[in-house]
Amino acid sequence: MDELREKLFYEQKNGYDLIGTDERIACEDYCAAYMRYLDASRTEREAVKNAIAEAGEAGFVPYVPGMALRPGMRVYRNNRGKTLFLAVIGRKSLAEGCVICGAHIDSPRLDLKQLPLYESDEMCYLRTHYYGGLKKYQWVTIPLELHGLVSLRDGSSVEIALGREKDEPKFVITDLLPHLAADQMKKTMAEGITGEGLNILIGSAPYADEGKDRVKLAVLSLLNDLYGIDEEDFLSAELVAVPAFDVCEIGLDRSMIGGYGHDDRVCAYAALKAIFDAREPERSCVCILTDKEEIGSEGVSGMQSEAFDTFMADLCESQGVALRRCFEKSVCLSADVTAAVDPLYPEVSEKRNGSKFNYGVGVCKFSGVRGKYGSSDASAELVGHFRRLFARRRVVWQMAELGKVDQGGGGTIAKFMAKRNIDTLDAGVPVLSMHAPFEVVAKLDCYMTYKAMLAAFEEG
Ligand code: MN
Ligand code: MN
Repeated sequence: MDELREKLFYEQKNGYDLIGTDERIACEDYCAAYMRYLDASRTEREAVKNAIAEAGEAGFVPYVPGMALRPGMRVYRNNRGKTLFLAVIGRKSLAEGCVICGAHIDSPRLDLKQLPLYESDEMCYLRTHYYGGLKKYQWVTIPLELHGLVSLRDGSSVEIALGREKDEPKFVITDLLPHLAADQMKKTMAEGITGEGLNILIGSAPYADEGKDRVKLAVLSLLNDLYGIDEEDFLSAELVAVPAFDVCEIGLDRSMIGGYGHDDRVCAYAALKAIFDAREPERSCVCILTDKEEIGSEGVSGMQSEAFDTFMADLCESQGVALRRCFEKSVCLSADVTAAVDPLYPEVSEKRNGSKFNYGVGVCKFSGVRGKYGSSDASAELVGHFRRLFARRRVVWQMAELGKVDQGGGGTIAKFMAKRNIDTLDAGVPVLSMHAPFEVVAKLDCYMTYKAMLAAFEEG
C-alpha cells in the first residue's frame, strides 16, 4: 500500500530538503545582490535606473530603431524612465516567437498631491493621495522618505531623494495616542485612518520673521536651498513618500528578507538577473520591467501601453517578421508575487492550493476574483510545458492560489500579455504582508524564481 501511495499521491517537499550546499550558497549570493538592488530602488524610476546600470555591465546597449540585430546581441529600451524592455537576440528567427518574463516595478505608496504643502497650528504637512491597494492604518507612525522628480519652469528637471541616506531626515504621519482614541478605536480598520488623513509631517520650526505660515515658509526656504524649487513647482512634480526601512534579513536563521516593495521588484530582479545570465538562447529572450501594475497597468508606462508592441515590432522588422507572427508563437511568464499561506490567518488561506514559504516559485494557473473574474487562466498545456521544464532544470516550484474562494483576489499583467495573443502563465515569489510598508519573502523562493526565469529563457 505504501508503494502505491508513493506512486499515486502528489506530496510536496520543503525546498530545503531538495537543494544541496552548492545551491544554498548560490541562493545566499543571489539574495545579497537582490537586497542591494531593492534597497536602492524605492520607485519605478530608480528601479529602471539601477537596472540600466547593471544591464550596461552585463553587455546590454540601448536599442536604436533600425539597428542590425545579430544572435547573441543584448539590447534595451528605456520607456520614459519608468519602464524597461531588455532583449537577448536568439539563434532562431523571431518568427519562432520569443520567451518573455515580465514583472512590475511600481509598488503601493503615498503620492504627494499637486499642491501638497500646508501649515496647520504652526506645523507643516504634505497632503497625499495613496497609490495602489493599501491598508491605510499601516502607513502611520512609520519613518518615510521622499523620492521623485520636479519639472521646472526652464524645462530642466530636478530629482529628489530625501531620507535614504543615514544622516538625512525622515518624515512621518502621526496617529492618536491610545489614551485619546476611544472614538477612533470603535471605527473599522478601513475607517480608522482615512485617505485625506494621510498627511505627512515635514516641519515645525518657524521662519525667523513676523507674518503668517512661518513654518511653511521655513520648509519652502529649505527646499529652495536644497533643490531650487518653489511652491508652484509642485504642480509639475511626481513626488512619492515610501517607507524608510532598510532591507534586512529576517529570522534567527536569516532565511527570509524584509523590505519595502518586494511586490514586485523581487520578481523584476529575478527576470533581470535571468536575462543577464541567459547564455546563447535558441529563441530570443525579452525581459519587461513595467510600471502602473498596481493601478491596473494603465498609462503610457503600463503594460496596456503600446510601448511594448513598438519595441517588439522594431525587433521583428529588423528580421522581416510580422509582430503578430512572433507574438502567436511566444510564451510569457508573468512574474508577480503571490500571497503566501500565513499560519496566523488560516481562515483565509487554502492550505492545499496556496503557496508556502520555502516551497519554491509559486505558479498561478489563474488569478482573479469571485468566479475567476479578471483572470487570464493559463491552459493545461501551458502549465504542462512549464511543469516539464521545471522538472528538467530542477526548479523547486509549487502551485499558488491566492487564498480561499470568495475571500478577495487580485490580478497581474498576465491578461494584458494574453490579450496580445501570447501564451502567459503567472509565476512568482510568495509574500507575507503583501502591500504592507514592510513585506517578507523567503530567500529560497526568491532564488527559485530566478532559476525558473533562467530556465524559461534558456529552454522555454
Ligand atoms: Mn504585484
Ligand atoms: Mn501588488
